[in-house]
Amino acid sequence: MINCNVCNENLTDKVYDTTGVVSITSVCTAVEYPTEVYYCNGCGHVQTLEMPNESSYYDETYNFLAESEEEDQIYLVDQGNITYRTQHQVTVLLSKLNLSKGTRILDYGCAKSSTMRELTRRNLGITPYLFDISERYTAFWDEFIEDGKWATYNLPESWDGHFDVVTSFFSLEHISKLADTLQHIKRVLNDNGYLYAIIPNTQTNPADLIVVDHPNHFTKQSIMRMLSDNDFSLQEIDDSSHRGAYIVVAKKGNSLSPHTPDSILKNEITSIGEFWKSAAQRIQEFEKTAAINNASAIYGAGFYGSFLASNLSALDNVKCFIDQNKFLQGTQLMGRPIISPIDLPDEVKIVYVALNPKHSRKIIQDLTCFSGKDITFFYI
Ligand SMILES: [Zn+2]
Repeated sequence: MINCNVCNENLTDKVYDTTGVVSITSVCTAVEYPTEVYYCNGCGHVQTLEMPNESSYYDETYNFLAESEEEDQIYLVDQGNITYRTQHQVTVLLSKLNLSKGTRILDYGCAKSSTMRELTRRNLGITPYLFDISERYTAFWDEFIEDGKWATYNLPESWDGHFDVVTSFFSLEHISKLADTLQHIKRVLNDNGYLYAIIPNTQTNPADLIVVDHPNHFTKQSIMRMLSDNDFSLQEIDDSSHRGAYIVVAKKGNSLSPHTPDSILKNEITSIGEFWKSAAQRIQEFEKTAAINNASAIYGAGFYGSFLASNLSALDNVKCFIDQNKFLQGTQLMGRPIISPIDLPDEVKIVYVALNPKHSRKIIQDLTCFSGKDITFFYI
């Protein structure tokens, strides 16, 4: 029996499962563990069955962009111009909160904390602190955080009521014990402090539904319920400033409990689950009919690309991954090189486009280096 991480209700409505097939983690590794996703009728939360070793997974295995201090993900490619995620996160944060001189800000579940590093480069006079449940990133932190201003595993008592802002950039989706986490954050905030969180939006970034190490897939309803149950007062949920994510701003205090979610939300989540089931079948059928014996490439060396590759029966045909992210180019995924689109070998006649389906066609259309080439595209 599984209970909802937000409202504790029994979860009985399964919307997706991969029993018998490998699952993909948020750092694009395949694991032989099923992905089972449930919808909560009590609060509208969507939840994936927790991996059996969640805490040791983050402490010992999880390695998010830990190759170098500058490594980053692409946020947007527009007319050939690339915006990286860290840059965008800092821009939006500064537009939402007044981070004046002397502001004490804690990045909770921070990993490398590229966002705090970028903030410190802007000389705003703020004092950043860091916290994570792993020792893995401390070498990065040492380079820009003073001694005594970071902690691992437990928040020190000396930090109680200490912070003007606690940020969480893509960490709440990884944490099953949400109530404990919200209480810890509340404890270290001062009375007028803000919680500022960025959380994946499964409805606009459908890959989030099947990431096996994301136990939580929040909806607006479940975010509101989580905050009200933990005595946070919601200031804003913004679903447009960061593509594929919610930006949540809250303060200590009470907020109204949200309405019980309606069937429209449930239908939408169910259809995302069905999209992924049919995506696996479409990949396999296309491979059998059109791609077999042809040299191919996978466009997208992230989560979508890993999912696509895991559904191919003849991975030998895949010669390379293509990605515009300069931090990935020159590295490998699944033993294949990751190359820039302009370096695509002429022998490749099939390109599997493994990007967010909401944007993938436009991204390919904008690429002039593919025009005139004899390539058949498959869109996930
Ligand atoms: Zn619930």
